[in-house]
Amino acid sequence: MKTKGRKKDKVNIVTLGCSKNLVDSEVMLTQLRGNQIDATHESQKDEANVVIVNTCGFIDNAKQESVDTILRYADAKEEGTIDKLYVTGCLSQRYRDDLEEEIPQVDAFFGTMELPLLLKKFNADYKQELLGERILTMASHYAYLKISEGCDRPCSFCAIPLMRGKHVSKPIEQIVTEARNLAKNGVKELLLIAQDSTYYGLDIYKKRNLAGLLRNLSDVAGIDWIRLHYAFPTGFPTDILEVMAERDNICNYLDMPLQHGATQVLKHMRRGTTREKQQELIHTIREKVPGIALRTTLIAGYPGETEQDFEEMMDFVEESRFERMGVFTYSHEENTHAHNFDDDVPDEVKQERADQLMALQENISWEINQKKIGETCKVLIDRREGGRFIGRTEFDSPEVDNEVIITADDRYLRIGDFVNVKITGASEFDLHGEPVL
Ligand code: SF4
Repeated sequence: MKTKGRKKDKVNIVTLGCSKNLVDSEVMLTQLRGNQIDATHESQKDEANVVIVNTCGFIDNAKQESVDTILRYADAKEEGTIDKLYVTGCLSQRYRDDLEEEIPQVDAFFGTMELPLLLKKFNADYKQELLGERILTMASHYAYLKISEGCDRPCSFCAIPLMRGKHVSKPIEQIVTEARNLAKNGVKELLLIAQDSTYYGLDIYKKRNLAGLLRNLSDVAGIDWIRLHYAFPTGFPTDILEVMAERDNICNYLDMPLQHGATQVLKHMRRGTTREKQQELIHTIREKVPGIALRTTLIAGYPGETEQDFEEMMDFVEESRFERMGVFTYSHEENTHAHNFDDDVPDEVKQERADQLMALQENISWEINQKKIGETCKVLIDRREGGRFIGRTEFDSPEVDNEVIITADDRYLRIGDFVNVKITGASEFDLHGEPVL
């Protein structure tokens, strides 16, 4: 499609990386449309003459995917399929100078906090009145709600503070306004996200105030589920557990990336905690919120990780019996503290250890799921696949956790509805069931 003589720009936003990047793209989409600019998100139609790639710069694989995506659109620009190519997000924030040199086809690179500058390229202004408004791109019944930006933690392996800056909490009023607007538009589930959600409030309220925020969000009419992600173990505000226990619309679910289970490695990672302290915290959480689903993320193959350290981590996973778990292999990131050390664990050993951890988790998850058979669970319907409906319980976050597969030949279930489902079968990472009439 030749672009000569085109009057009005048609913009397509492409998002890579995490849910925080997705929220940024949704804000960008809302601002562009708020300025009467014809914009879409991840459109498969080949109509746009302007493409904005919102990149991820977290670890090797993610960086490679971002570079490949930019290059794909750089080729499209050379072929005349698109007129303009803009790049924003974490990779752009972190490697702008190198990228400008290596990919001159890109019209402009922007950092993670430069949306107003990007809008200027369309002669558009950042509309304050749209604060709290957001066009959702994934589903209409659940939405990610970013409660802060950046991070003050010194984790040795992590490049995120280099890309997202210092921790900045959003005021409670602003977050509650956004939640009300989302609820008004039909959202029933809010997924609270941040780099470190448990740090919330320390900057603007001079105290940890996640409990206060949760109470306010729990009072928002129309919100049935509030899900907490990205908690940090050190300085964990246990008062949030009381709020979780007292409020029905706060899911008995907690995502708390712990990164490792061996004290020696946790020290080296500058996590400010030990295996014992993590065990104690897990015990406290399970005691205060019985039946809670704990999700964590671990890193395999950190510099200097010995076979013994790894065995200790396996033992930690065995003892903790997380309901949900993900594992990354260590990625040697420039300008991080850990980059000063030898990346001495061979890639195949990293992968082997990650596989062993996930094999252990598969067994744990299978045993946990078997106990659900015969139970009736409240399930939020996310989508339809052929004659089956796919949903989630309060113990499952979208895209990363288990799903409930529902055969409903004789009944039509609506996406976005809650349905009571009798669990009839279970596998490692999924439950199967029938709607309760
Ligand atoms: S808390 Fe998370 S985002 Fe912050 S430095 Fe540690 S790993 Fe990175």
